Amino acid sequence: MTRSPAVPYNLPAMNNRPSRRRPREFREDQTPTSGIFFKARRSLYRGRSRFQRIDVFENDAFGRVLFLDGLVQTTDKDEFFYHEMLVHPALLRHPRPRRVLIIGGGDGGDLREVLRHPVEKATLVEIDGRVVEVCKDYFGWLRPALGGGRAELVIDDGNAFLEKTRDRFDVILIDSSDPVGPSTVLHQKAFYQRVKRCLSPGGIAAAQAGALLFHLDSHRRKNAFLRKLFRHARFYIGPVPTYPGGMWCYIYCSDRIPPLGRLRRTPAGLRYYNPAVHKAAFALPNLLAEKLR
Ligand code: SAM
Repeated sequence: MTRSPAVPYNLPAMNNRPSRRRPREFREDQTPTSGIFFKARRSLYRGRSRFQRIDVFENDAFGRVLFLDGLVQTTDKDEFFYHEMLVHPALLRHPRPRRVLIIGGGDGGDLREVLRHPVEKATLVEIDGRVVEVCKDYFGWLRPALGGGRAELVIDDGNAFLEKTRDRFDVILIDSSDPVGPSTVLHQKAFYQRVKRCLSPGGIAAAQAGALLFHLDSHRRKNAFLRKLFRHARFYIGPVPTYPGGMWCYIYCSDRIPPLGRLRRTPAGLRYYNPAVHKAAFALPNLLAEKLR
């Protein structure tokens, strides 16, 4: 097969006008010796909050991109793979999800997906108010999601919030960053004990768990304590093109509702998730299944 060197696979053409300024390059080192890079057509925001460095820029292939501390968090082009798979498996297995808690997820992608369901209230607990402010300005979905009357924004550490709250939630979604800095605690057993305590009877939790290819030992450790904590603790997978290795892991936890079975009706407008994808996502490839055994 021949490939056009100019615009392979119909990607949008880079701005071809000759320019003396070289586009700025953003790189994420995904391993010590490999990674992903983006040429920024335009830098939209550069700043540092109390917690992390925040960059938003525009790239011709992926649209607007959010980096936190030099790591890709979300891009216009491929965010739906991640947000749909973190949210809908748990929301659609729950027979009547009324109260939903999201921990992390300050870019608002999960909140947008949660509000596709007839929930009464969705509470987003994000530690870094600056992430929310920046994403309101640069990612079109966050402001309407927060403004619709069913969403509540709390700026707090998700772990501390769970320790204090007397509320109970039908679904808890954990959209943490990787286990460094303030996010480290969100990957530990003590945190999941709090998650369990804050679920209403029949509640379901789902969390992002890291790369299929690069975080196998972490998956084994998490699986070991989650299986003791919850009657149903199951890993599932889905692609995220800009995340390390391209294939991402998630965890589904519940004491009453197993991950496979009757689903409520899928909301309209989804681009990746459907009931067949739901079922397939829980079929684990050998390298992960063997690690979890
Ligand atoms: N899916 C993304 C990834 O893994 O690349 C994560 C995106 S989301 C933007 C992660 C969010 O979790 C960040 O905005 C970060 O500020 C927030 N966060 C980190 N630690 C937290 C904590 N302890 N409590 C609440 N939010 C936290």
